[in-house]
Amino acid sequence: MVQKMGQCYKVSVIGGGTAGLVAARELQREGHHVTVFEKANRVGGTWLYDPRVETDPLGIDPNREIVHTSLYKSLRVNLPRQVMGFLDYPFLKKDGGDPRHFPGHQEVLRFLEDFARDFGLMELIRFEHEVVRVELVDEASHEWVVESRTRTTESKWESKEEIFEAVVICNGKSTEPKIAEFSGRDIWPGLQMHSHNYRTPQQFENKTVVLIGNGPSAVDILREIAPLAKQVHQAVRGPNFKLKRLEKHDNAWQHSMIECAHKDGKLVFQDGSIVYADVIIHCTGYKYHFPFLKSNGIVTVDDNRVGPLYKHVFPPSLAPWLSFVGLNYKAVPAITIELQAKWVAKVVSGKLGLPTQAAMTYSVEEFYREMERKGWPKHHTHNLLYNEFEYIEWVARELDIRPPNWWKNITYESHVKMLRYYGSEYRDAWDIDEWMLEMNSPNFSTP
Ligand code: FAD
Repeated sequence: MVQKMGQCYKVSVIGGGTAGLVAARELQREGHHVTVFEKANRVGGTWLYDPRVETDPLGIDPNREIVHTSLYKSLRVNLPRQVMGFLDYPFLKKDGGDPRHFPGHQEVLRFLEDFARDFGLMELIRFEHEVVRVELVDEASHEWVVESRTRTTESKWESKEEIFEAVVICNGKSTEPKIAEFSGRDIWPGLQMHSHNYRTPQQFENKTVVLIGNGPSAVDILREIAPLAKQVHQAVRGPNFKLKRLEKHDNAWQHSMIECAHKDGKLVFQDGSIVYADVIIHCTGYKYHFPFLKSNGIVTVDDNRVGPLYKHVFPPSLAPWLSFVGLNYKAVPAITIELQAKWVAKVVSGKLGLPTQAAMTYSVEEFYREMERKGWPKHHTHNLLYNEFEYIEWVARELDIRPPNWWKNITYESHVKMLRYYGSEYRDAWDIDEWMLEMNSPNFSTP
């Protein structure tokens, strides 16, 4: 298909979470005809708390009924609201809402619902429509068939196929659990679950619980269950983690990773320590999963690398007609998603160009080679921990946008604060209003 500058296309967006809503807004702004498919009956994605958990608490049974969100009931955001809004639509405190800088999850849902309403996005969304197939039907014209299904009765589904000229995939990245590997895992007799299926602490009362991981969920869950549990043991990968009691808890210890598990309930850690536990909670992150995407092997997921993708967004040979928004992690989601969505919308309408297919492919391969040189494992492909600012600034330059300085300062400071105040105290300890006043003073030096 010959792409003409400023032309409008029929575009399908898969998912009505943050990424899908922002993509829909940007595509609509460019004049495209947008249809958003959302399998839930509301917008919000991750932020739509669901008290249900999956039938397989570890989340490995492919036939389990999937619950999309991984939120636990008490979750408060781990980034200040100042960086959770969008460039022209800040995440402001509202009457009757949760005024904290790090509010509870309900406040984020309200913000996203307001965003969708304020930009007229609700009308674009087909709720309770799950996409089951996205397939390129005509390479020359880049026509995609999107097959969706909707429930008509408890046991009956109705399917429909529609043709679109472009597809933007925004189905989220925190639903398909990744679990820790260790010898004896499958014969260990206790309850094993993934943090995806953790909601409230009550079931851990008087239990000995081993938590695997050291990310925000592990830290939050540890803090929440320690007051009720008999003992909590946190297993952390890496050479720096050895047996020690955790500060602020009488009944919680940190260990190195689990070496092996035994039939009698014994867990042996790599540091030689031994614990008999009732429960293991894998707080070990998620896998990218696009069960609906039939791309003839052009886009694959290999060891959590979705590729090949130019700048984490466009598969070179299918660009700009297929794109992904929101794959990156260890980066501030809102701005990353917003800039990616703007980029996709403008590239689809031909207002911004992409390099040639060969040049994009070379860029992806060069990125993989650079990862190898630096010793970064493949599964860190979409991790922006070390190049968040560089990436954001690159996309912003493509768009001729300059992200405000305060954004960079708060992001940098958020990461520092989280390290400085281990656990959740940083959420209330950090007086951001005061800090922003200082930041705006002439004496403030940027990082
Ligand atoms: P999602 O929010 O997951 O949305 C994907 C949507 O796609 C869902 O609505 C889903 O129903 C829909 N969908 C999926 N498959 C299909 C299909 N086949 N057909 C139709 N619809 C489909 N970010 C922050 O900025 N601050 C935080 O404090 C923070 N805390 C987090 C805590 C947890 C526990 C988790 C898991 C994530 C957290 N995040 C946080 C990251 C958060 O996920 C992102 O900010 C953002 O919400 C991701 O949006 P998304 O649209 O990419 O994905």
